Amino acid sequence: MPFETALPMRKRDLLALIGRSAGASAMYLAMTSLGHAQPSPFRGVPRLEGGAKGASVLILGGGLAGLVSALELSRAGYKVELLEYNDRIGGRSWTLRGGDTFTELGGAKQTCEFASGNYINPGPWRIPHNHYAVMHYCHELGVALEPFMQLNYNAYVHSAKAFGGVPQRYRHIQADFLGHVSELLAKAVKADALGDAVTKEDAEILLASLRNLGALDKDYRYVMGQPSSERRGWAKGPGGGLSAKPVPSEPLDLTTVLQSGLWRHISNSLGSTHHTAIFQPVGGMDAIPRAFAPHLGDMVRLNAKVTAIRQDETGVTAAYTDTRTGEKRTARADWCICTIPLSILSQIEMNVGGDMAAAIGAVPYAASLKVGLEFRRRFWEQDEQIYGGITMTDLPIGQISYPSSGYGRPGPATLLGAYGFGAFAFEYTSLAPAERIARTVEWGSRIHPQYRDEFMNGVAVGWHRVPFTQGCFGQWTDDLRAEHYDNLCQIDGRIMLAGEHASYIPAWQEGAVTSALDAIARLHQRVMSA
Ligand SMILES: Cc1cc2nc3c(=O)[nH]c(=O)nc-3n(C[C@H](O)[C@H](O)[C@H](O)COP(=O)(O)OP(=O)(O)OC[C@H]3O[C@@H](n4cnc5c(N)ncnc54)[C@H](O)[C@@H]3O)c2cc1C
Repeated sequence: MPFETALPMRKRDLLALIGRSAGASAMYLAMTSLGHAQPSPFRGVPRLEGGAKGASVLILGGGLAGLVSALELSRAGYKVELLEYNDRIGGRSWTLRGGDTFTELGGAKQTCEFASGNYINPGPWRIPHNHYAVMHYCHELGVALEPFMQLNYNAYVHSAKAFGGVPQRYRHIQADFLGHVSELLAKAVKADALGDAVTKEDAEILLASLRNLGALDKDYRYVMGQPSSERRGWAKGPGGGLSAKPVPSEPLDLTTVLQSGLWRHISNSLGSTHHTAIFQPVGGMDAIPRAFAPHLGDMVRLNAKVTAIRQDETGVTAAYTDTRTGEKRTARADWCICTIPLSILSQIEMNVGGDMAAAIGAVPYAASLKVGLEFRRRFWEQDEQIYGGITMTDLPIGQISYPSSGYGRPGPATLLGAYGFGAFAFEYTSLAPAERIARTVEWGSRIHPQYRDEFMNGVAVGWHRVPFTQGCFGQWTDDLRAEHYDNLCQIDGRIMLAGEHASYIPAWQEGAVTSALDAIARLHQRVMSA
């Protein structure tokens, strides 16, 4: 056996994989054309007509949910005040650059040492084309977008337990998996083994499509030759002159592909939120909150840590501490939209009804960790021809994502050296930042040995230690939603909640923005009917 087997795959897993990709996408297409499955409910900003009747709104938290609420309510004539804990707006939409400092829970302080122009987004980093609400605000506020390279066929898929730990090019695994599966299915069609599942006429079409999809030869075989090499790449590519003739590459056999377990990464880019086109703001995700700033002026109070929220018959009062001076203050308005993450809100005294209070306390937050690393040069481009995209691995670092900009630029560059979830993220977060970075470099060097010579510095953000969220995103289950979701989103007296946690698109900015738009529309209706 050429390598230690990783997660040997049973036939039923293989069939499930095929079923999941073909079945789900076919169903999705059908539903979309019928208008049932829309990627985002956004159909435009709600029209808050009729004036604000002099009403005021206190917005707590200046992430995207708070910023959208403040922008639209102020445009509609409401008197708005926004309290934000940090010394910047944006919340999780955050970018770290050289000179930035960050102190996490527990007191460890990191100073980002990246060279000028380099950055890492510790939170959100990509915007799917079908996140219409976020795209709307990017366009309206003039946030320049560039392509985010989600899928790069020349990046790697890697398992410590397959191919002796040697990373494989995605294109090899993807082409060989599809090729072999197509050949198998073609054999079944030709042997008439599919029974009534396909008509005779469709069988011919199916065979043609399998040859096309799987890069099969004229006899429906997936073998070394031109069709397969045009998918997986040539052993020696076509060139000019006397050395021009290409040499085909030899596909991996089916057992090798299956036993490696690396086929599981093929479905990564099939989910609709990972489809091309997918984008990133030029220069960092914080370009989005920055674009809101000029429209909000003095509505925003930074360094304001809300400690208690109290409503009465006529309004809502938030007690807050000025984190620079320690001074205790209050702010009051007729209504309150609170966008503070539930992980923190559940620790803040607030007089809402039992249903909303139970909902606030019910939702756990997922763990996540991101490590940004800076290297002396773009060795992934220069040595391995990887321009953007993501290498997936079963090492604890989870993935390595290469920058989607600055291709070919000389000098230091950053990449995302780890992006992990679950138990691993909790464990990693428990380590001191320097240890997280050291382990990331050690693991990453198994894929890119250049790490050892080229590493310069790094930053490591474990989201359960981020003081302003204490977690990555609200981790709803179907049962939790059934019990608490509507109670969380209802208007409780004069208070309502918004934020990614109050959406069916958790862990995406689209959830934050659409929840805010929904909240302000309902609040406006309430004000109009008062
Ligand atoms: C690791 C990671 C990766 C992600 N990847 C993506 C991605 O690629 N694309 C994408 O679209 N989304 C992504 N997301 C999700 C996205 O970041 C969130 O859904 C979105 O930013 C949430 O916005 P929000 O306004 O609901 O909350 P936040 O942005 O968290 O805003 C809440 C605000 O409340 C403030 N606050 C907290 N406590 C207090 C207090 N006591 N007083 C006053 N203010 C307080 C916070 O400082 C913060 O500004 C990612 C998130 C993480 C963590």
